[in-house]
Amino acid sequence: MEREHEYFQVFPLVVPADKTTTITIRGLYEHSRFEHDAEYEVTYYPKEYWTDDNKQTKLVVKAKEDSLVIPHYFTGEQEHYFVVASRANGEKHHIGTFSVYSLLPGLFARRPYKGDLHMHTHYSDGIESPAYVAACSRKVGLDFVAITDHHKYTPSLEAQAAYSNVKVDLCMFPGEEVHPPECFTHIVNFGGNFSVNDLFQDRKWYRQEIDSLMQELGPMPAGIEPYEYASILWCFDKIREAKGLGIFCHPHWVWDNRFNVPQPFLEYILEKRPFDAFELLGGITPEDNNLQVAYYHEQRAKGEPVPIVGVSDSHGCHFRDHFGATYTMVFSPVLELQDIIESIKDLYSVAIEAIPGENPRVYGPFRLVKYARFLLREYAPLHDRLCIAEGNHMLDYISGNKEAADWLAASQGQVRRLMDMLWA
Ligand SMILES: [Zn+2]
Ligand SMILES: [Zn+2]
Repeated sequence: MEREHEYFQVFPLVVPADKTTTITIRGLYEHSRFEHDAEYEVTYYPKEYWTDDNKQTKLVVKAKEDSLVIPHYFTGEQEHYFVVASRANGEKHHIGTFSVYSLLPGLFARRPYKGDLHMHTHYSDGIESPAYVAACSRKVGLDFVAITDHHKYTPSLEAQAAYSNVKVDLCMFPGEEVHPPECFTHIVNFGGNFSVNDLFQDRKWYRQEIDSLMQELGPMPAGIEPYEYASILWCFDKIREAKGLGIFCHPHWVWDNRFNVPQPFLEYILEKRPFDAFELLGGITPEDNNLQVAYYHEQRAKGEPVPIVGVSDSHGCHFRDHFGATYTMVFSPVLELQDIIESIKDLYSVAIEAIPGENPRVYGPFRLVKYARFLLREYAPLHDRLCIAEGNHMLDYISGNKEAADWLAASQGQVRRLMDMLWA
């Protein structure tokens, strides 16, 4: 449906279920404008909830100026197609197939935000500055990011500080990759208001904390290292104390010829759930990601819901496939840290793998996967276009072009305005 996206605009694109909403299909350019007063044939198809009575309904719509204005009752939560044809000189000519999604109230009140919750800079083993990584993140269509360098929290603050004198819509949250001493498990502190890595500096106090926690926990099942488990439990608790989201990272990443986390330990962590979110997709090999996805599905089949994120774990914006290609779409009431965190914990997120040149794959609850695929097709191109422009101006700004600040100020809120137009 690429032609439809380029030549026309449909609004609203997302409407409330079980209500009548008037949608407008507008031809944007001279060659695609509808002819005022001319009659067009519109055939409506509900994608999911159809009966013999409503599976296909035809109506004739007279164009108003350059647009078709169609009031319609949208049944249930599903996608709807409007196939438009002109009827000039008694001949039917296909113009386009236009799509609208209707949602039940809980999901309708939320908006989709794309984010990367795990990425590195030259302060650990990445190659670029936090400001650069942030600008490039906007260029690939992300709404929020956290820089999460190994052992370091301050690079995430540096990204925020780099843009503190200018108006940008990209949300930059604090973060760090937490490595508890002598432990193999990797943890991301997303959004926490203090550094957990910094707490390891007082090693004596930290060891005492872990020792007393080990005593509290008592004997562990066979194969579970008590020190490792107590350490990660302590870290996840500290991240919650900092009001952050504790992400259990890449368990099936193969490092030194073995999984990052031994399988019995993984089973135990999934049973006890000390973490807030599971890193379903990361910047690791397709094979490792595949295993994590399979493992996640198995957990869900057991009836155990798992909050998930997809991240790039990027170490450079240009030299690997993952940057901008594996990320999270969160359905949150607003783009604010605590709402994003709560939405992920409440299972309102999907992990997306959009390798350039391949059809994207979306993982998560079926209801959200279905909706996310619609958004990737119908909304993301409009959204990403605005992000690319902002990302380019952010790059100009940090390279020293002060005029870029004026452009950024003038265009602030453009994604918000697009959402206001597209959500009824
Ligand atoms: Zn890691
Ligand atoms: Zn990492």
